[in-house]
Amino acid sequence: MAWKWPASFQPGRVNHTHINTIVVGAGAAGVGLGVALQDYKAGEFLIVDRHCIGASFLRWPKEMRLITPSFNTTPFGILDLNAVMLHTSVANFLGAEHPTGKQYAHYLQQAAIECQLPVQAGIDIVQVEAPEKAGTRGRAPTPSGPGTTFRLTCRDGSVYTADNVIWAAGEFQYPRTHSFPGAAHCLHNSQIASFQELPGRDRIVIGAFESGVDAAVHLVRRGVHVTLLHGAEQLATQEQDPSRSLSPFTRERLAAVTAERSNLRVLANHRVTEVKRERGGYTVCTVQGSFFSEHQPILATGFVGGVAPVKHLFAYRDDGNILLNEHDESTLTPGLFLAGPLVRHEHHIFCYIYKFRQRFAIVAESVARRLGLPVPDDVAATYHANQMRLEDLSCCGKECVC
Ligand SMILES: Cc1cc2nc3c(=O)[nH]c(=O)nc-3n(C[C@H](O)[C@H](O)[C@H](O)COP(=O)(O)OP(=O)(O)OC[C@H]3O[C@@H](n4cnc5c(N)ncnc54)[C@H](O)[C@@H]3O)c2cc1C
Repeated sequence: MAWKWPASFQPGRVNHTHINTIVVGAGAAGVGLGVALQDYKAGEFLIVDRHCIGASFLRWPKEMRLITPSFNTTPFGILDLNAVMLHTSVANFLGAEHPTGKQYAHYLQQAAIECQLPVQAGIDIVQVEAPEKAGTRGRAPTPSGPGTTFRLTCRDGSVYTADNVIWAAGEFQYPRTHSFPGAAHCLHNSQIASFQELPGRDRIVIGAFESGVDAAVHLVRRGVHVTLLHGAEQLATQEQDPSRSLSPFTRERLAAVTAERSNLRVLANHRVTEVKRERGGYTVCTVQGSFFSEHQPILATGFVGGVAPVKHLFAYRDDGNILLNEHDESTLTPGLFLAGPLVRHEHHIFCYIYKFRQRFAIVAESVARRLGLPVPDDVAATYHANQMRLEDLSCCGKECVC
């Protein structure tokens, strides 16, 4: 696909405010779901985004790359791990195995242009009200009218109504910044524009999962003395599921900087209890003692996820995650779906693109059924054949023998 980014991007603009389905968020999940809705001919839909297509990826630190590798597998029947739609290859398009955020946003934008997805940028949804009489699952919703549809209020006060809402607002723009007293004094890794441009010869990094190790690797390579603090007994390297374990890409980079440099100190069993601003710098208190730096500690303790406007419309599991039915739909509010890295079923975590993209088809089919539209078998079969439709979760999580 040749790059042709138009000066003002609003392909397939929808000029009215009631729509069958609104997708909130034009990231990897929103774009992929838009394509699935189109493929399934699942009614009229609109994708809205508070910023633009791929906005979270555009906000990644300049040096950060996707940890999941892309390779030219798509033409051989194995969809590129980072693709969000059929017949595309991130590796071919970008010529990169581990694209940067900016590169990946470019792929998403081009995918949206090629498919002429109806996307409206600059629409920040701040409130969602459910229909008073939500349509029952499997049945078409009641005709549109006051109280019979979802009402989505934007930051500027304008309102959209929709029969279905697909929440795909992601997590990156919603960092976890209050894990312990004084956490707000730190610089969350999602707020770093470039590790190259961070001043200082030393840094404390709090949290040693993907983001923390990534920050440490970039800084150590630059010659910065890094103290990486984490509360566990050891780095997460044991499990086979990359949602619970450091990826091979990160393990390899960590091993390389550990072998080649002496400016990285990794301290296990150092759960941080507080960060204080004092003596012109920052004291990081842990269960095993304190560490001081003149420079803002980097907080790599994860993300809370951007579900605030729809929080009251979902029920929750005992572990605090959103409870979904088998269609990734709210168990409290029929017609409200969740897409992206916050999706959980039993012990399965759908936090990677290659995982959560396999649920787009399930949601699109459910939306079609709710609208009384047929679900084309051939589309479902094509999605299934291309690792884009996962219904039976019993095949996930098998341990590899080697
Ligand atoms: C640091 C980090 C690194 C990751 N690396 C990888 C990786 O290498 N490989 C992988 O497969 N996965 C990775 N993931 C997991 C996941 O794939 C990404 O988080 C991915 O961006 C999720 O896509 P998304 O569309 O759900 O969210 P996002 O890409 O964050 O997109 C959400 C969109 O919603 C918009 N939005 C948010 N709130 C609103 C609102 N209220 N109204 C309107 N629009 C809104 C945003 O502007 C944004 O464009 C990573 C996650 C993180 C946090």
